[in-house]
Amino acid sequence: MSNERIFNFSAGPSVLPLSVLEQAAAEMTNYRGSGMSVMEMSHRSKVYLSIFEEVKADLKRIMKIPDTHEILFTPGGATLQFSAVPMNLIGKTGKADYAVTGNFSNLAMKEAKKYGEIHVACSSEDRNHTYIPAQSDISLSPDASYFHYCSNNTIFGTEWKYVPETGDVPIVCDMSSNILSLPVDVSKFGLIYAGVQKNMAPAGAAVVILDKSLAGHELPFTPKLMSYQIMIDGDSMHNTPPCYTIYMLGLVLKWLDTQGGVEGMQKIKAAKAKILYDVIDESKLFIGCADKDARSDMNITFKTDNEELDNKFVKAATLAGFENLKGHRVVGGMRASIYNAMPTVGVEKLAEFMRDFESNN
Ligand code: PMP
Repeated sequence: MSNERIFNFSAGPSVLPLSVLEQAAAEMTNYRGSGMSVMEMSHRSKVYLSIFEEVKADLKRIMKIPDTHEILFTPGGATLQFSAVPMNLIGKTGKADYAVTGNFSNLAMKEAKKYGEIHVACSSEDRNHTYIPAQSDISLSPDASYFHYCSNNTIFGTEWKYVPETGDVPIVCDMSSNILSLPVDVSKFGLIYAGVQKNMAPAGAAVVILDKSLAGHELPFTPKLMSYQIMIDGDSMHNTPPCYTIYMLGLVLKWLDTQGGVEGMQKIKAAKAKILYDVIDESKLFIGCADKDARSDMNITFKTDNEELDNKFVKAATLAGFENLKGHRVVGGMRASIYNAMPTVGVEKLAEFMRDFESNN
């Protein structure tokens, strides 16, 4: 093991800002004179509640979350929300619409089928999820209880560039892999959820932001911990919340302020993605996996036309200090996940490495 930090292109859990890790380390054994670590505090203590309230206030401010919406910190990652969303929301009409544009939206759709009648409103499966359907390709059911989509497809490297129009049907969005990378108009969404382990914090929680008027109609067998109403009533503390993960999210949000918030991050992430897409577009060796107009700024998927060469690239990159570049098995090739905390220099160095690799191969 070396003492140097590598450039970590993992899809999640993923890189965290170095200054955040350093601050967490400095506060590890004695949080600001409390005489203990945040890990050791009662979640009901005054000192922890002040951390918790500040994290909620910062997230509300940074994402401009309106008063109509509540922030929840839930256990079970994004996957538990695949079940919690239908359990809480499908009761209205017994039906829901799903857009299937990748692995996770497909999993969410399949899980929802346990709880009601599911209509696939659009799918990009015909071209292995290399594109995002246009609004005109979405067939909406007027009696759906909600419409679900995933704004960034982590595995395939595609990203929705628009928020679908659904009329009066509430929109539910899995934003796990692009939350906090750009401003979003939260008022357009009935519910947003995200596993925190990409742009927010170390793993261990999901953030749910929901229109409070949608809560309180869960199916009768919904576990208490998955009921949005019970979570709202208990301010995410119906039981012990993932305290340390929430504290780390707080540090990440303070760091995000230093980057200009989500508006600043939108510029930074677009510039970082352009560096790698420019290499791919100018290359005779590397091929981008996603359609140009659907490319994700968070997960850059690319390959060569030769699997052996892909493997050689990943191996050589690892030796050069660029880790976790192997693509997901369903896409193959390479994937560079360049979430908010990936420094621009890491992307510049990877671009240089890709150009050198091409010259030598
Ligand atoms: N949705 C998306 C878009 C994801 O990328 C992931 C994880 N990579 C998940 C859901 C599942 O998240 P979790 O592991 O937190 O359940």
